[in-house]
Amino acid sequence: MTTGSDALFARARAVTPGGVNSPVRAFNAVGGTPRFIASAQGPWLTDVDGNTYVDLICSWGPMLLGHAHPAVVAAVNEAVARGTSYGTPTENEVALVEAIVARTPVEQLRLVSSGTEATMSAIRLARGFTGRDVVVKFAGCYHGHVDSLLASAGSGLTTFSLPGTPGVPASSTELTLVLPYNDPDAVRAAFAEHGDRIACLITEAAPGNMGVVPPAQVDGRSFNAFLAETCRAHGALFVSDEVMTGFRVSASGQWGTDGAHEGWVPDLVTFGKVMGGGFPAAAFGGRADVMAHLAPEGPVYQAGTLSGNPVATAAGLATLTAATDEVYARLDVVADALRAGAAEAFTAAGVPHVIQSTGSMFSVFLTEDPVHDFAGAQRTDTAAYGAFFHAMLDAGVHLPPSAFEAWFVSASHDDRAVEQVLDALPAAARAAA
Ligand code: PLP
Repeated sequence: MTTGSDALFARARAVTPGGVNSPVRAFNAVGGTPRFIASAQGPWLTDVDGNTYVDLICSWGPMLLGHAHPAVVAAVNEAVARGTSYGTPTENEVALVEAIVARTPVEQLRLVSSGTEATMSAIRLARGFTGRDVVVKFAGCYHGHVDSLLASAGSGLTTFSLPGTPGVPASSTELTLVLPYNDPDAVRAAFAEHGDRIACLITEAAPGNMGVVPPAQVDGRSFNAFLAETCRAHGALFVSDEVMTGFRVSASGQWGTDGAHEGWVPDLVTFGKVMGGGFPAAAFGGRADVMAHLAPEGPVYQAGTLSGNPVATAAGLATLTAATDEVYARLDVVADALRAGAAEAFTAAGVPHVIQSTGSMFSVFLTEDPVHDFAGAQRTDTAAYGAFFHAMLDAGVHLPPSAFEAWFVSASHDDRAVEQVLDALPAAARAAA
């Protein structure tokens, strides 16, 4: 029964465009009514009609520990009782930044409130630092709704087949070069032609917004290493967007799986999602000499009324503190079980599929061939995914309502939650056939 969600959706649609406050929450791509959630605990969502679901969205990434984790709830309660925003510096801000600097390659960090702000600010800083204007991005990578980056972007733009968006003037994207992902020749050619005008190249550290498309190997090292080298050779900055992968695919992020071993560091990195523990907190950071260009000491302006908010930083710090090796080991166990179950179910149902991962983050593409780039991702069978999605939902498993998104698990996904997903998969895969 979904009468409660149906009624709320009708109310929402009267006062909010599409009835949702972020497009990917809508069910337009799969049909039906989005479930209005009343509460969540560990891996479980409960909607206003009392239906429960195993959550494989995890707030699109942040809920690494699961919902209402006791340590996070305690930290938030404690912070709230001391006041919710001061507009002056606090100890928790310093502690959160120190925790991130300790885990990642960044030397200095500035806190903001969303991933969009982080990438927008990183690009401004790269342009201010280099004195150049051109930005390179990859088709299918989503970096938030920053004007200059809304060209061939993933996430909701892919779900709703939008190449860009009205409201972004051509002048905002004409300085953006969009290249195919995992294509070193395209990168070489772009830098050969425009190298002295390129301020930075920004990439998802491992794309998750066209579905998960891991960086390929280029001449024995990762695509990211190749990008970092190419940028350096041309005096451009390499900006690694770890908003989705940061603190999720390893204790640091994607860099922990490539750069840390290959011995290179990005010039700038953006973070969000997990580092806010379910609250609005994000960050950008990197080389101290680059970060020194930010106001108040440098000339590049960037600011935020709620940046480093005391409640958000308390939630983020509690989350990172609780994110032990055991947490990452559990994520891997859960993801392995779900990947194996999905592969078996789709194979048995005779549905072509490819499962791609980075760490515990993975996507199930309903397509024949491995996906290396945006064009490959777009060959996924969205109608089949819609049928699969609804069969899973009816069986109590809430997947992302889009074929182009990652499935997220949490350390709270216990054996009962995993079993519920595994039990639902065979019939749902047959529904996709
Ligand atoms: N960068 C990446 C890689 C993302 O996945 C997202 C959001 O999904 C963003 C940036 C934007 O973050 P936010 O939605 O917090 O603005």
